[in-house]
Amino acid sequence: MSWSYATHYKCDDCKIELSMGNRAVTTCPDCGGLLEVQYNFEELKKKSTPSDFKNRDRSIWRWHEFLPLKSKENIVSMGEGDTPLLPSIYIGGKLGLEKLYFKNDTLMPTGSFKDRGFSLAISYAKEIGITEGMTYSSGNAGMSFSAYAQRANMKTLTLVEYLANPLKQSLITLSGGKTAILHYKSMNEITQLLEEASRELNIYQFVNFINPIRHEAMKTYAYEISEALGWESPDYMIHPVGTGGGLWGAWKGFKELYELQWISKLPKMVAVQPSATGPHVKAFNQGKKVAVRVGDPTKTIAQSISADAPIQDGKRVLNALYESNGYAEEVTDEEIIGAMKDLGREGIVADPASAASVAGLKRLVQRGLIDSKSTIVCVITGGGLKQPKLIESLGNEDHVHINPDLSELSKLIKGL
Ligand SMILES: *Cc1c(COP(=O)(O)O)cnc(C)c1O
Ligand SMILES: [Zn+2]
Repeated sequence: MSWSYATHYKCDDCKIELSMGNRAVTTCPDCGGLLEVQYNFEELKKKSTPSDFKNRDRSIWRWHEFLPLKSKENIVSMGEGDTPLLPSIYIGGKLGLEKLYFKNDTLMPTGSFKDRGFSLAISYAKEIGITEGMTYSSGNAGMSFSAYAQRANMKTLTLVEYLANPLKQSLITLSGGKTAILHYKSMNEITQLLEEASRELNIYQFVNFINPIRHEAMKTYAYEISEALGWESPDYMIHPVGTGGGLWGAWKGFKELYELQWISKLPKMVAVQPSATGPHVKAFNQGKKVAVRVGDPTKTIAQSISADAPIQDGKRVLNALYESNGYAEEVTDEEIIGAMKDLGREGIVADPASAASVAGLKRLVQRGLIDSKSTIVCVITGGGLKQPKLIESLGNEDHVHINPDLSELSKLIKGL
């Protein structure tokens, strides 16, 4: 039995197959297309069953057969993954849904689901001898990248947009990485810079999709969730979408389990983005195969999914939505704030981007698209504490003030 069943890369566009070897490839050397890791599932199917994974140590590394790392010795882990699948106790009832769950990735080592991807991508980079790397981030990815790279003794540069909140910028630096605040006029300049850097500069990149490894880790959503549901997929998987690495990875994971016949159906994938931008959602709802830059990222509180320019025309994300017969929704800041407050009543303080998945679900229900008996998973990709000003303002709206006086206190208690 192999430790990993990864075999090679295949280019999305020209379909060339490349050995994974020890080379630091990012995009296709022939045509610049995105590379996808391929696996030998025929072998895996012969050698493994779902129960093999059950009693292993908790982390994404429980699923090493499905991940592209050759040797256990290179794992860089801080306990990422294996987060709880919480049944809803409030929002489900409010929306008339019997089986709504939250995949609570607010519990990750650096506070967001980015840790799944960086545990894998940094481990892989270590394995192929990379000692320096670069990424671009609105905050959460940069912090995760810096933290995991530290643990692999790797030097990092994170380009953070000047709009990112100062707390997130500091967290990247505090996590040991070099941080450069990037000033720009349009996000197209950033995607262009990143593409040029991968051609011209000898630096390994960790941007989702451009780096062919990072988002492979998001497949673990499919494994963990299917296992928790008794080896069945949910009917709907609802993701906030920035680059779409999370949504695309989860979809790939479900397709693998279906191919192995470990689950008997596939979920519909749902992408949610802020209405201020939302390139993938707008393209999907016009039936297009490619997404274009649209909107203004400064006009939404959902900073982690505010990107106005899709990576490589958003083709992978759109494919996942079409293939799965899924949906795409855009939501306003007002709807996101409503969802943050609702999630608070579930015991979850969510990043506004994560709350967008719940706001998107509300829209689907309003449009009459979801049956009350469906199994639905909203991915809560990160915690809210990294946007402290927003969180402070939301709490303050509902505070009352009292004096140390028993009758005032008594009135308050009666009014609970
Ligand atoms: C990065 C991020 C997203 C978007 O993830 P993509 O894989 O880029 O689509 C969503 N929510 C949070 C909290 C994030 O940090
Ligand atoms: Zn190619």
